[in-house]
Amino acid sequence: MAAAWQDVVRDAAAVREAAAVAVDAALLAGVLMRTGEQPNASDVVNYAPFTLLPSAVPRALFEQAYAVQQDFNLLVDAVSQNKEFLEQTLASTIKVDDFTARLFTIYKQVLEEGLAQTVFLGINRSDYMFDCGLQGAAALRQIEINTIAASFGGLTSRTADVHRLVLNVLGKSEEASQLLPNNPAKGLALGIAKAWELYGSQRAVVMFLVEDVQRNIFDQRCVENELWNRNIRVVRKRFRDVFEQGSLDASRRLYMDGQEVAVVYYREGYVPQVYDEQNWEARLLLERSRAVKCPDIATQLAGTKKVQQELSRPGTLEKLLPGHPEAIARIRATFAGLYSLDEGEEGDRIAATAIADPDRFVLKPQREGGGNNLYGEELREVLEKIKDSPERTSYILMDKIKPQPALNYLLRAHSPLQVSKCISELGIFGVYVRQGRELVLNQAAGHLLRTKAIEHADGGVAAGVAVLDTPFLV
Ligand code: ADP
Ligand code: MG
Repeated sequence: MAAAWQDVVRDAAAVREAAAVAVDAALLAGVLMRTGEQPNASDVVNYAPFTLLPSAVPRALFEQAYAVQQDFNLLVDAVSQNKEFLEQTLASTIKVDDFTARLFTIYKQVLEEGLAQTVFLGINRSDYMFDCGLQGAAALRQIEINTIAASFGGLTSRTADVHRLVLNVLGKSEEASQLLPNNPAKGLALGIAKAWELYGSQRAVVMFLVEDVQRNIFDQRCVENELWNRNIRVVRKRFRDVFEQGSLDASRRLYMDGQEVAVVYYREGYVPQVYDEQNWEARLLLERSRAVKCPDIATQLAGTKKVQQELSRPGTLEKLLPGHPEAIARIRATFAGLYSLDEGEEGDRIAATAIADPDRFVLKPQREGGGNNLYGEELREVLEKIKDSPERTSYILMDKIKPQPALNYLLRAHSPLQVSKCISELGIFGVYVRQGRELVLNQAAGHLLRTKAIEHADGGVAAGVAVLDTPFLV
C-alpha cells in the first residue's frame, strides 16, 4: 500500500524537513487541539495529531463506502422509529447493562408522554476498515456506526490541504493534485441549518451540548462557525447548565434562561461517567422537549453495538427496510461477522469458539469513545469468567478485521519522529433531516481517515491512539 511513498520513507532528511513543514501547515490550517494541561483554554494550543503522508485507500472501497451512506442514514432512521425492534433487540442487554437501561427508560418515558419533537436530525459516521481476506482483494467492513457525537468532521475538513502541501514539498505534485476536497463541517452545518429552519423560529438558537473538558473545541468550532456565517445563533452549554437554566413551556418548547432552543446538537452524553442524577434529569428535560435533538434518544439507542449485531441477523434488514432490496444488499455487503452472546445455545457455541480462538474476534460492550473493547488473551480471560453468567449478554462478539499495514509517520506533539507500521479506518459522515414522516434531506457529507500504529488494537483520535489522515486513492 505504501508503494507510492517508498522512496520518501527511506529518505530521513526529506522526512525531517517535510515533517517540520507539515506541523506548521497544520497549525496554519487550523488542525488544532487544546492541550492536556489546559483543556479549557485557547491561550496555548497544539496541532491535532496527523500522519505525515496520506494513506493509500482502494478507490473502489472508498466509492462503495460513499455509495452506501444514504442507505445507512435510512436504516438508522428506520430503527429509531421502530419501537418493537428496539424493545426486542435491547431486552436482554438492559437487564445487565445499567447505562443502556437508563437511556431506554428515558426513551420509553418520552414515548409514553407522546413526542413533542416533529423535526428529526441525524448526523452519523459509519466507520470501516479494509479487510484483506484470504482471496487477496481487500473488502470494505463496517466497524460501527456512530449515531451520537461523531467527531472530527471539522478538523478533517482542513487536513487535505496540509497533505497536499507536504506532497508538493516532497516533489510529488502530481499525487498532490489528486487529493480529494473534503468538507464534512459544511455538510454537518447544512443539516443543522435545515433542522433549525424547519423548527421555524428565527429567534431560536442552536445549542451545542458540550463536555466539561473541551480539548476538541476547534473541531466543533468549524461546524459552529459555519452556522454563524448563515446567521444562525449558537450557544455552547453543558448538561449542568441545562439542569440549572433549562425549562419547558406549556407546548414543551425548550428555553435556556429565557432563550428558545431550536436544535440540541450533542457532542457529549454517550458515556455513563457524565451522568449524575442532575444530568440525567437534564437529559430527560431535553428529550421531552420540542427541540430537534441530534440525535434523539431513540437514534442514540439505534447506534448501540447490540443493535448493530442484531441488524446482521438474516431477515432483519428486510423487516426494517421493506421495499428497499438494493439498499439492503449494499448495506449487507459491508457487514463483518457479528454474534449475539445472549443466553442460550447460539451464545454458548460462539463463546466457546472465541475462547478457543480469541484472535479471530473482538469482544465489545455497549460503550462508545474507544478503549472499551477486548482482544486476544484479555478477551479469553473475560469470556471465561462471564461465559456462564447473564453478564455476557452486555457484550457482543465481532470478527476481527485484519487490514494490510503500511508505513507512515505519526506526527504528535512532543513525540519523536519515527516510522510506524500503520492501519487506517475510513469514516463517512451521513446527514439527514426528517419532518414528520418525510425525509427532506439525506446525504453523505464527507469523510474522515484515521490511522494508528498496529500495536494498538483499539482507540480513536480523542483516545490518543489514532491520528488524522487523508486518503490517497489507488
Ligand atoms: P467505539 O465505540 O469505542 O469507537 P469501535 O467499535 O469503533 O468502538 O471500536 C474501537 C476501535 O477498535 C476501532 O476504531 C478499531 O480500531 C478497533 N476495532 C473495533 N472493532 C474491530 C474489529 N472488528 N476488527 C478490528 N478492529 C476493531
Ligand atoms: Mg468507533
